[in-house]
Amino acid sequence: MLATGLGPLAPQGLLDRAPAIVDVSIDNVVLPKSDPTWRFALAANPANVGLLLRLRTADGTEGIGSACEVRHIGFDLDGMRALLQAAAPVLTGADRSGDALAELDRVGGPARAILQMALLDLVARAQGVPAHQLLGPQQRTGVELIRILSLKEPEEMAAVAAGHQAEGYRHVKIKLDAAPDDIDFRRVAAIRQAVGPDFGLTVDANQSYAAADALRLCERIAELDVEVFEQPVPADDLDGLQYLTEHSPVLIEADEAANSLERVREIADRHAAHGVSLKVPKLGGIDRTMQAAAICAQAGLQVRMGAHVGSQLLNAAALQVAAVTPNLSDPSELAEYARLEDDPVTGLHITDGRLELTGQPGLGVLVTTATPSIPVDAPRKDTP
Ligand SMILES: [Mg+2]
Repeated sequence: MLATGLGPLAPQGLLDRAPAIVDVSIDNVVLPKSDPTWRFALAANPANVGLLLRLRTADGTEGIGSACEVRHIGFDLDGMRALLQAAAPVLTGADRSGDALAELDRVGGPARAILQMALLDLVARAQGVPAHQLLGPQQRTGVELIRILSLKEPEEMAAVAAGHQAEGYRHVKIKLDAAPDDIDFRRVAAIRQAVGPDFGLTVDANQSYAAADALRLCERIAELDVEVFEQPVPADDLDGLQYLTEHSPVLIEADEAANSLERVREIADRHAAHGVSLKVPKLGGIDRTMQAAAICAQAGLQVRMGAHVGSQLLNAAALQVAAVTPNLSDPSELAEYARLEDDPVTGLHITDGRLELTGQPGLGVLVTTATPSIPVDAPRKDTP
């Protein structure tokens, strides 16, 4: 059983080091997709919806945190907001009773990630240092980026990939869905033809394959120099994942299957994957993401920084983690904020397919646009 309230980077540890918080606000963040038809095998929504948490001190110093809901792994906006609202009296010091502190400890999933981000940002800003300095020894100044391609017809996906190549990116990840007519292989082949040989390709089926079918596809896309096949089989099918890891010529990566520290440990113990996709909201925070990386390092699994779809703020936090993660493999999926609109946060800049630390205090980004509490458009569709 993993302790949740312990450690200097856990929310309670950060709160102990933070200056007094006088105001807490929780706003909805609705980020329309610049391509409203963007979809993957598990969901198709025209906008990403999440929360922005702002913690303010009397002198105006602000710590900020944000993540989007991740409904396909069980975290929706209402549940996330309720957890943060319940923790607010503890944050302002209005209530530091044992019951209230237990409330802080109950915050899990993306809500814990948001809370931890905001507290880390506040503590680092109060000290005038970039957040990564509080996380550990710096390993890198930035990351190579990979762009993710929505499910579309092969020719359309190839055109989008070529567009990213023209923008300076050197890697794309191809979403797959096991649809009929061999479309997944045709997608990969069309994209390889469009971008040429010296361009990194990975694929992600978001659980849509049975293991035997995935192996047949692996054998064919290996010929097209695909480097990684992410989450081919259902999240609960660790036997299928392990079978593929033992037989596939393409590296197998766990994403949805690695949705908690306990699952990361199980996958590492079993060597059920060659690698794990690290995501701060999925794993429930920055400290747990760093622990997951350490578990994988010990077991000889590679880790990559997975997609942090949401505000720049979320990607800025993941970049701070990347900065201190020794065993991180290129490329990182920290560019997907670039396909979302109306982000209230600014400060990150993608240059020549890379994202560099800003060098600014805290998480290195700021809220620069007002964030009224926008109603979230219902209904949002998640397709099974
Ligand atoms: Mg994935």
